[in-house]
Amino acid sequence: MAKIPVGVLGATGMVGQQYLSLLADHPWFEVRYAAASPRSAGKTYREAVAGRWHLASSPSGGMWDLRVEDANDVSRALDANRRGCCTFVFSALEMDKDRTGALEEAYAASGIPVVSNASAHRWTADVPMLIGEVNSRHIDIIPIQQKNHGWDRGFIVVKPNCSIQSYTTPLYALLEAGYDLKRLVVTTLQAVSGAGYPGTASLDILDNTVPYIGGEEEKSENEPLKILGSLSGNAIVNAAEPRIAAHCNRVPVSDGHSACVSLEFGSRKPSIEEVKKIWTSFRGPPQDLCLPMAPELPIIVREEADRPQARKDRDAGKAMVVSVGRVRPCTVFDLRFVGLSHNTVRGAAGGGILNAELLKSRGYF
Ligand code: NAP
Repeated sequence: MAKIPVGVLGATGMVGQQYLSLLADHPWFEVRYAAASPRSAGKTYREAVAGRWHLASSPSGGMWDLRVEDANDVSRALDANRRGCCTFVFSALEMDKDRTGALEEAYAASGIPVVSNASAHRWTADVPMLIGEVNSRHIDIIPIQQKNHGWDRGFIVVKPNCSIQSYTTPLYALLEAGYDLKRLVVTTLQAVSGAGYPGTASLDILDNTVPYIGGEEEKSENEPLKILGSLSGNAIVNAAEPRIAAHCNRVPVSDGHSACVSLEFGSRKPSIEEVKKIWTSFRGPPQDLCLPMAPELPIIVREEADRPQARKDRDAGKAMVVSVGRVRPCTVFDLRFVGLSHNTVRGAAGGGILNAELLKSRGYF
């Protein structure tokens, strides 16, 4: 099967580098177009990332020699699209939110679908915010989005913030098993790579924790409600519950966001053993479809008293697994657990690739 040629906007950044690395051997997609800021435009990819390549793994040989284009110039991508080099783009841009939103719409309007990591369109009513195992049914809103804009081939899908990956899938598995979720308090411990590069200054984070990440608590409290919501008519309607209170902290960890959760159920309350059974047997469409980026199982339950740990567990299942541990009763609510996921893989590029695989399996590419 010929591979589908794809582009990466923001290819030089923390998440963009993960895209190029993860797509180096991808069986369906091949990176043939790379774009970033005007600072990088005109350089080869190798020149553009010189001195700021952050990963142990590398893109395949050909990608190093790609010419980096200016992501603001949609005509360059359209030209590549017409030459058969860019069927759709992954967006990993870090710039002004309104500008990002308008730019992603310009790509979609020109007929190039956008699979985005940016936050600009997460709250756009007709844009699905996808976690493959949780709400792939929200893909059904794409024809409505296209109709609303008069787009024929283009569309936008987004993935949620990296902070919510470590607890939203475990929550959904409990809901799917028939348990109502009323309230939860979550405290996140977020890695420095979550802030992009150069991100938090080393003098601020070495030997330190920072109890504030701008905008992150609002995202952690609200994004799960859209993801757990339902398609009704022409819109995705947010779930009313659970109510979420979040404390988000930056910690001196390179990769891997942890979340410490206390959860209250409705009147039916599962036992700890039942909760573990639900999580270890949970699977979603990416597993049923055997998608290339999907882990065998999306949730792993660790029984050791001191796991999950960022350094030891973030790479589990191709860095696409949510590792859950410390599953125990809560003295205030009902259940406590700690979730961990890799923020630049499951929480960013890997999650975006999984979304694109789902879209391909639904005939969108
Ligand atoms: P980053 O390391 O700062 O990279 C930003 C990218 O955007 C670079 O390629 C940069 O190009 C490009 N860019 C910056 N200004 C631009 C402009 N004016 N015009 C065009 N391109 C521009 O950020 P990141 O951590 O990779 O994050 C990328 C996106 O993913 C953000 O929207 C972020 O919120 C989201 N995200 C990040 C994570 C994570 O864990 N890091 C997780 C989930 C979602 P140059 O190199 O040329 O400057």
